[in-house]
Parts: sequence; structure tokens; C-alpha cells
Amino acid sequence: MPIKKIVIVGGGAGGLELATSLGHKLGRKGNAEITLIDRNHSHLWKPLLHEVATGSLDDNMDALSYLAHARHHHFRFQLGTLTDINREKKVVQLAEIRNEQSELLVVERTLPYDILVMALGSISNDFGTSGVKDHCIFLDNPRQAHRFHNEMLNLFLKFTAHHGEKDRVNIAIVGGGATGVELSAELYNAVKQLHSYGFDGLDNQALNVTLVEAGERILPALPARISAAAHQELTNIGVRVLTKTMVTSAQSDGLNTRDGEFINADLMVWAAGIKAPDAIKDIAGLETNRINQLVVGPTLQTTRDPDIFALGDCASCPQPTGGVVPPRAQAAHQMASHCYSNILALLNGQSLKPYIYKDHGSLVSLSKFSTVGSLMGNLMRGSVMIEGRIARIVYISLYRMHQIALHGYIKTGLMMLVGGINRVIRPRLKLH
Ligand SMILES: Cc1cc2nc3c(=O)[nH]c(=O)nc-3n(C[C@H](O)[C@H](O)[C@H](O)COP(=O)(O)OP(=O)(O)OC[C@H]3O[C@@H](n4cnc5c(N)ncnc54)[C@H](O)[C@@H]3O)c2cc1C
Repeated sequence: MPIKKIVIVGGGAGGLELATSLGHKLGRKGNAEITLIDRNHSHLWKPLLHEVATGSLDDNMDALSYLAHARHHHFRFQLGTLTDINREKKVVQLAEIRNEQSELLVVERTLPYDILVMALGSISNDFGTSGVKDHCIFLDNPRQAHRFHNEMLNLFLKFTAHHGEKDRVNIAIVGGGATGVELSAELYNAVKQLHSYGFDGLDNQALNVTLVEAGERILPALPARISAAAHQELTNIGVRVLTKTMVTSAQSDGLNTRDGEFINADLMVWAAGIKAPDAIKDIAGLETNRINQLVVGPTLQTTRDPDIFALGDCASCPQPTGGVVPPRAQAAHQMASHCYSNILALLNGQSLKPYIYKDHGSLVSLSKFSTVGSLMGNLMRGSVMIEGRIARIVYISLYRMHQIALHGYIKTGLMMLVGGINRVIRPRLKLH
């Protein structure tokens, strides 16, 4: 029997974990050929992006090379951007690759599959709001996080050089979800650090962060008491939190709201909702929803093709209690291990099991100031609110779980050690 080809598109929180575990189980002994496709050379866990944006994290330290990881974990890596799927021929189509000077490096090509897993994640959704694409930064990938970092440093440099001419640096963030809340807090931490590195006159008073949320409260996905605690903490730090405020357009110097207010801003971030990449809308006749997500059944197989699975943010997976699985890192992590078991079952002719999302709670890091969140557990009825140091440890553990799934316990332990040493020998903030 020919060796089965399993192709995974998207090496993010979910796809990379799946490629790693399938590589170990099937790739190592040559029982299947596992190929991971991503449009980037390296992987950075997306929930770290707001720290890259403010410079609290140097992504050179945490990024993982797909090629090296593939070699050590018995799968193949193909650099490329998926553009189409031919379900009859069972091939995926990848776009040509050009360098920065637009020279052609690799021509358009196709790759065959027996089982295909779509794990392309999501991008920010601007809901067609006028001016957002031109004037706001999205935090969807490291390139955009670097752009924010550079523009932030330039603004602070200008402010310090012309100290006294401008009273404040204005930054507006649209979207009171985890990204907006965490970024707001990180900015005040960055200012504190930059002040200690010689950015004279730059302190909390010189930073004016406005967090704008259209809904009744920030962190709408979390229990009300946690959102109230985060709101209070942000206000204490100095963030101006505006709820029930709908942004209707963005322009070069700020945001217009439906109530007629103009929010003055030197730098704007849009983090108000997600959608799956436009490239997968109605791809190959598969069912997609209004935010481009591939609709899957409980087994994570797409509704119109059992040989195509989808997981993570790009999948819309119904739950027995109603609703769908939320677009979170912990969901991508769980779906990756479930998809792994179901692919093995499919290959062995066994029945596939339905995936049920287990909400272990959600934590939001308010930088060095606080961490708040809820934990769910079998021993507790409902959720328990946690704060402070314990919450911080649990928050970090979500990333550690991702690292352990990729590298195992020993290497993750060594990486923690290196991280600890770097905290001592390197600046606390990336300054370039
Ligand atoms: C700033 C920020 C903070 C967040 N914080 C949290 C948090 O604290 N807790 C939490 O649970 N969740 C958080 N999230 C959400 C979390 O990051 C996502 O839910 C999770 O990463 C989804 O995993 P995924 O595998 O579906 O997609 P991703 O991790 O986004 O990976 C998708 C991969 O697909 C690749 N790709 C995309 N299109 C193509 C294409 N056409 N061809 C080839 N490759 C492609 C991308 O390069 C990427 O590597 C945060 C998100 C952001 C942006």
C-alpha cells in the first residue's frame, strides 16, 4: 500500500503541534509522509505578539525555525502560501515565491495529499470600516508587531527630543478583547522601562492610551467580574477606557466615533474581531461561514469533504451545548491533539470521536502590573477568579504547554533557563 501523504497548512499554535506529534508517531518510522506548509520561515506563538510590539519580548529569542524543527521531528517543511485546493486531484496549490526585489525564486506549484489539515489561523477583521486599512496597524504577525514597535520608538524619540513642545503621545487601540487590553498595559510598562534607559521626560503622564470598545464592557468573553477588575486596573495604570463606543472611521490623526467624538491619535491599532484569511472563503466548494471559517463537524472534518480537516481559528466547530469553539490558543492546542487522534483513527479504519472544547478558563496579562482571569476545573462549580502572581504563573503555563508539545520537557526546561539568563544579561526592553 502506498504511504499516505498528510499535508498540514499553517504552522501556528495548532498546526505546528499537530505536525510535530504526527511526525513522531508516523513520520519517524516512514508510516506516513507528513508535510507542513507555512508562508513564513519561522513560528512565533501569536499570543506573544503584543509583547513583541512593545519590545518586552525579543522574538529572535522565541521564534522557531520550521526547517530545523521539521528535521528533528520527522516531517517535511515547505515554504509557501496556499492559494487553492483541487479536491478531485487531491492537490493543494501554492503561490510562486518572489524575493523583496520581486525576482522569481520558486514557481507556482502543487502538492498532493491524502489527508489535508487546514490550520491557517485568523487575521484582524476591520468590518469594512473606512480608513482602518490605511491608518491602523493590525497585530496579526511579527512583521506588523515590528512595525508597531518601530513607530512607537520613533514617536517616543521625537517626544523626548522635542521635550516640552508636545504634552503627550497619543495611542488609540480599538477592541477591548485580550489583545487590546494586554497591549494597553504593556505600553505603560514600556514607557517605564524607556524612561530608565534615558528617554527623558517620558513617563506615565506623557503617555495617553485610549482603549475603545463597542460593547458594554471590555473582555466580553470573560465573566463580568473579571472584566470589571481589568477595567479598574487599566484605569489605575492610566489607560482611558471607552466602552459602548463604536469607531466609524479612521484618519491619519485619529478615530471618529458614532457619537461624534474625535479621538486624537499618533498611532492606532485595530484589534476588534477576527476573520479567517480571505483566501479560504468558499475555497474548493467547501462550506465557509460569514467570517470565512471552514465549517467542520464534531470530528473536525469539513462538512463537505471527510479527507479535509480544519482546526484552530480558521475552523467553525459546533458544540453540543450550542455555539462554536472560540478562537483561542487553548482551543487550537486541544484541537491539534484531537485531530491527531482522529487522523490515526481514520488511517486505521476506526471511528472518529467528536471534539468537545474544554474551557480551562482565561487569563489576561496586564503586563507587570497584574494578571487577572478565571479558572475552570472539575473540582469547582463554574469559574473561579484568580489574580496576581498565581494568575501570572498560570498565564505563562499556557505558553509552556505549547513549548512542551513542540520540544518536550527537557528542552523546554533548558529554554526557560536560557530565558532566565537573558533576563539578567539583556536589556529589559528591545530598544532597536
Ligand atoms: C496579540 C494576540 C494576543 C493573543 N492572546 C491570546 C491569549 O492570551 N490567549 C489565547 O488563548 N489566545 C490568544 N490569542 C489568540 C491565539 O493566538 C489564536 O487563537 C491562536 O494562535 C490560533 O492558532 P491557529 O493554529 O489557529 O493559528 P495561528 O497560530 O494564527 O497560525 C496560523 C498559521 O498559518 C499560516 N498561514 C496563514 N495563511 C496561510 C497561507 N495562505 N498559506 C500558508 N500559511 C498560512 C500563518 O503564517 C501562521 O503560521 C491572541 C492573538 C493575538 C493576535
